Amino acid sequence: MPVTLLGAAEVRALAADLDVTPTKKLGQNFVVDANTVRKIVHLAGVQAREHVVEVGPGLGSLTLAILETGADVTAVEIDHRLAERLPATASAHGVPEGALRVIDQDALRVTDLPGDPTVLVANLPYNVSVPVLLHFLETFRSIARGVVMVQAEVGERLAAPPGSKVYGAPSAKAAWWGSWRLAGTVSRQVFWPVPNVDSVLVGFERAEPLGSEEERILTFRIIDAAFQQRRKMLRQALAAVLGGSALEASVVLERAGIAPTARGEELTAAEFLRIARATAAAAR
Ligand code: SAM
Repeated sequence: MPVTLLGAAEVRALAADLDVTPTKKLGQNFVVDANTVRKIVHLAGVQAREHVVEVGPGLGSLTLAILETGADVTAVEIDHRLAERLPATASAHGVPEGALRVIDQDALRVTDLPGDPTVLVANLPYNVSVPVLLHFLETFRSIARGVVMVQAEVGERLAAPPGSKVYGAPSAKAAWWGSWRLAGTVSRQVFWPVPNVDSVLVGFERAEPLGSEEERILTFRIIDAAFQQRRKMLRQALAAVLGGSALEASVVLERAGIAPTARGEELTAAEFLRIARATAAAAR
């Protein structure tokens, strides 16, 4: 039996049956358009028998489109009512036994997933999209690529190169894990309820780690400090993390080959790592 997708009327009927009124707090904007979910799955290049992890399956719109390819899905959903109903929706739509596993948990707290998913596909809850992405890339190293839907502003940040106006801490941290690209825009009309922000699709491919885990932790602290005071030169913005004074910070920055007068928005993830390495060397 082929897997069938959810229609707009069924999405609303399911929500009514579960007494679910979509909440802003959980970023609950459900996709009611089959073309959109199929497009996401296509862009992610999901193949039969691949293991996909989905964050926030909701009523199952995107989940069914992933399962339609013959892939296996592990879905992590924080809303108990939605998590509980999903297996029944899947089986009513022709999903074979065992193809879907639902984890009834906060995605930000998940540290264990069954098997080793290699693809992340999600329409992410907007208020936690960046922390969820960073948590998943850090925690589940088997994830090699993915496509996610996020708020347009966030997607542009994730894919921004250094020097761009919107380049910030999320851009530099995301770049630590691999390469990111804007993969398409999504109309507000495909959601119920219609959100008051625009959405985009963002694709990523994991790359070899730039450095060790210890180096990553220090690099991320430096990135946070650099962007907390975005307008300041690095020798000031990083004074607290690099020795305590602007003078000490300048010495470390020069050792790393970075101009102390540069600003965080000019630096790549690899350059932030050079600062972390120079800091660690100075402490030895
Ligand atoms: N995938 C569905 C779709 O496309 O129709 C729903 C997407 S909706 C934008 C986001 C979903 O994430 C909701 O189902 C919401 O309950 C869930 N969610 C919100 N915060 C979460 C969290 N911290 N962990 C897991 N799921 C979360």
